[in-house]
Amino acid sequence: MRAVAIDGPAGAGKSSIARKLALTLGFIYVDTGALYRAIGLYTLRRGVQIRDKEGIIGLLKEIEVDIRYVGDEQHVFLNGEDVNGLIRTEEVSMAASAVSAVPEVRAFLLETQRGLARRYSVVMDGRDIGTVILPDAKCKIFLTASPEVRAKRRYDQLLEKGQEADYEAVLADLKRRDYDDSHREVAPLKLAEDGIEVDTSDLTLEESIRTVIETAKRCLGEEA
Ligand code: C5P
Repeated sequence: MRAVAIDGPAGAGKSSIARKLALTLGFIYVDTGALYRAIGLYTLRRGVQIRDKEGIIGLLKEIEVDIRYVGDEQHVFLNGEDVNGLIRTEEVSMAASAVSAVPEVRAFLLETQRGLARRYSVVMDGRDIGTVILPDAKCKIFLTASPEVRAKRRYDQLLEKGQEADYEAVLADLKRRDYDDSHREVAPLKLAEDGIEVDTSDLTLEESIRTVIETAKRCLGEEA
């Protein structure tokens, strides 16, 4: 099986770009953030404080998470319930970021992610795919953009979905998540030693997709 790891901060365009790349290559797209989001959702539902590390660890024995495909689309199941429609709120984003700093949570999700990469050729997006989950991936891309550009994209997405949004609040949440994701002790967000950085700040989505497809084909050893 072949693998492309796509890591980077929130709002860098990872999911849109990785999905297109997977389609182009004929690989399965795996959004690993959905797994952390499912655990964040469970934590909120059970009323456990998101900074209560021991409380979160205690919940893991009650949790089963799984990724399944409905057509081409990834759905995440939490104890048998399809929670795809419930995990994209800002509240769940913050909870996901908090639970993801707990080493036991990361260990709990490791095998689910590696198992998918053993069964399928994958384009897998996350924060530590190239550094921890799939260190042997042939192709590791680190997608980034300035915080302001990423916050604007997220803000526009929320408005498009008809949700209320405040740009300053989106920017503040995103900077907080960036800080937490890149300063945690286990598997912090960082460029893999053999990773290739792609900055999409000045690129449109179409241009970013094209750049990433060319980069991936090159490192997979295919004609671009
Ligand atoms: O990518 P997404 O925004 O859905 O991820 C939600 C949160 O899950 C991130 O802020 C990050 O803290 C965490 N995460 C992680 N490792 C991954 C994917 C996501 O720590 N591989």
